[in-house]
Amino acid sequence: MENTSLLIIGGGPAGLTAGIYALRAEIKTAIIEPAFPGGNMLITERIDNYPGFPLGVSGAELAEQMKQQYLGFGGEIISGEVEDIAINGERKTVRMAGGKEIQAYAVIIASGSSRQSLGVEGEEEYTGKGVSSCAICDGAFFKGKRIAVIGGGNSALEEAIYLTRYAERCYLIHRRDLFRATAYLQREIKKYSQVIPVLSRTVRKIEGDGNRVKALSLENKETGATETIEVDGVFISIGQKPNTAFIDGKVEQNPAGYIITDYRMQTSVKGIFACGDVIRKSLYQVITACGEGAVAASSAEKYLSDL
Ligand code: NAP
Repeated sequence: MENTSLLIIGGGPAGLTAGIYALRAEIKTAIIEPAFPGGNMLITERIDNYPGFPLGVSGAELAEQMKQQYLGFGGEIISGEVEDIAINGERKTVRMAGGKEIQAYAVIIASGSSRQSLGVEGEEEYTGKGVSSCAICDGAFFKGKRIAVIGGGNSALEEAIYLTRYAERCYLIHRRDLFRATAYLQREIKKYSQVIPVLSRTVRKIEGDGNRVKALSLENKETGATETIEVDGVFISIGQKPNTAFIDGKVEQNPAGYIITDYRMQTSVKGIFACGDVIRKSLYQVITACGEGAVAASSAEKYLSDL
């Protein structure tokens, strides 16, 4: 079994920042990350509101810089998925898929969030065959095509704008008659003539020919009528759910699954801290994730020095 002082679960902006701060405090630290470090920054084309980048910065670039900074301080990244945490007093044992176990005295959960699914007929069947939840990953497959983006938040509007570089037409389908996205994005979206807002509609079904998506069946919430629009692709952008399957109620979570922390990023279990998109909070941004990561690492340092 491997041992470390501090184990960070998740290598997004929260986990990488926590790692940088912990290494600066000379704590033996490892990050477990199932994919590429960077988290949801990797599916964000441009970040305009991270201080220090007046012209904005690509999500992939910021992720790479944070990873390099963490590695530069001597950080370790362990590739794999966490399946369980066993808490035995001061010792916490993290079990990974495949059976590998790592023991640590302090754990920072920074496992982030993933896209919600719609739960309609055709969504699962056509995932990878026209249905996607990542415009940056899959947008280029839709050059000259008609697509739909489902959702009315910041992500949906940003993705619709991003997809205009490929798609000939982009229906932006929202279940209410008002978008949730910021006023800035609502103004921006009007500059893109390929984006056609389709408001007060819910998706009933994603239709296809068995191989590819062909159409969306919608319910018009004002008239109750069923409408069909022909599309080649559907991008689902209806919010996030926290990545907490491995926690299984071992630390306190709210009804939606987000981890509850205090102002020190301490969870309900001593020695387990949490930060970033996996926690209950009021603002989900790269900058807040980084700030919470710094606080979590500083709290973990104090906890470890008091043991
Ligand atoms: P979000 O803000 O929660 O918005 C989700 C959208 O999907 C809402 O418009 C919601 O409709 C709709 N929706 C939810 N469930 C639905 C369903 N079952 N069927 C149809 N529509 C459904 O999620 P997000 O856009 O993914 O953003 C997540 C967080 O990251 C937010 O806090 C956001 O501000 C932040 N974020 C920030 C930026 C930025 O600062 N540039 C960029 C991206 C994300 P209702 O409006 O009717 O609830």
